[in-house]
Amino acid sequence: MAERVIPLVDERSRVLRPAVPATASPATGELFDTRARPLRDLRISVTDRCNFRCGYCMPKEVFDKHHRYLPHSDLLSFEEITRLARLFMAHGVHKIRLTGGEPLLRKDLEKLVAQLAELRTTEGRLPDLTLTTNGSLLARKARALKDAGLQRVTVSLDSLDDAIFRRMNDVDFPVAEVLAGIEAAQAVGLKHIKVNMVVKRGTNDHEIPRMARHFRGSGVTLRFIEFMDVGATNGWRMDQVLPSAEVVARLQSELPLVPLSPNAVGETAQRWGWAGADGRHDPALGEIGVISSVTRAFCGDCNRARLSMEGRLYLCLFATQGWDLRSLLRGDASDAQISAAIAAIWQGRSDRYSELRASLPPDQGEQRGRRIEMSYIGG
Ligand code: SAM
Ligand code: SF4
Ligand code: SF4
Repeated sequence: MAERVIPLVDERSRVLRPAVPATASPATGELFDTRARPLRDLRISVTDRCNFRCGYCMPKEVFDKHHRYLPHSDLLSFEEITRLARLFMAHGVHKIRLTGGEPLLRKDLEKLVAQLAELRTTEGRLPDLTLTTNGSLLARKARALKDAGLQRVTVSLDSLDDAIFRRMNDVDFPVAEVLAGIEAAQAVGLKHIKVNMVVKRGTNDHEIPRMARHFRGSGVTLRFIEFMDVGATNGWRMDQVLPSAEVVARLQSELPLVPLSPNAVGETAQRWGWAGADGRHDPALGEIGVISSVTRAFCGDCNRARLSMEGRLYLCLFATQGWDLRSLLRGDASDAQISAAIAAIWQGRSDRYSELRASLPPDQGEQRGRRIEMSYIGG
């Protein structure tokens, strides 16, 4: 059945000009928003291009040959990204995730990884440096990324069935190449490898047990993500969302799982461990995660900021406007001024879209059409 596709209104132009406070105290590593949430996690989108056309993210009907991508001169350079990352880290960021579009399409990405790996947290530690990729180029790039200082990787994979996978990426890309990318990542020693599966009821939900069995005991953590109403073009409908509770129940009926406590405050996934014969979590079998972005809001702990490839700062995945930090970078602003502007933006943050979703009208009216696309600010 053909899905409803909403035409893309180019909302990248909806931009907020950051003010540079006249006086500001230096960064202390502890910056809080209006809901007392600290800034800890920076997701940096390095390109708006992708070689896949996943229907839930960049549907082919919208992202077709007429779609205008950003010219290279609009993208932040690696030096600009690193300068901003350093300022964010002084405010308390300790985790940096590179994303996109498809981040591995950005030429020489390993050079950016090497620059970011030179930075240190306020406690003098290495940043937790990771990448989310569709895996298509990972077999080729894993070694260079690891050597440059990448620590972890998350690979998106929605099915092990080649026909379903080719249909979901909508560019006929074979699943075997993504699996080879995951193996390459393991072989070069990238740690804590995760696989993200977006579950769409009626499309790939029957693949849940097979995916779980495939990765159980492999050292890779599989995470099931609820299909989200992010962006304005993916024709999202609630009846295509399979609640995480149902994912866990389906798995539990075949193989025992036990709940695990969170690794860190603000963690997006709820963890479940595979149980051994004694009914307790068996670390050798590993764990799964469920990300209930729709059915269980986790805005209360949300410590994530998102930086677009052209230097706009978004405070929520469902934001409609971003703060133009590039104008400061390419103007004459000093580090202290940019740092103060970032502080003022975060201190004014009150976003909590997922908590409010249930109280919004079904199509979320105006708001939905103005939302920024996932392929623009990453996951
Ligand atoms: N291209 C890379 C990839 O696919 O991993 C990185 C960017 S992609 C936008 C980041 C993550 O967002 C992926 O794991 C993808 O599956 C997820 N994603 C995209 N659209 C989504 C949606 N509508 N609901 C839930 N997750 C989505
Ligand atoms: Fe590309 Fe990732 Fe979006 Fe799929 S989810 S279209 S791979 S950016
Ligand atoms: Fe964070 Fe926005 Fe998602 Fe809530 S809806 S968890 S504030 S990104």
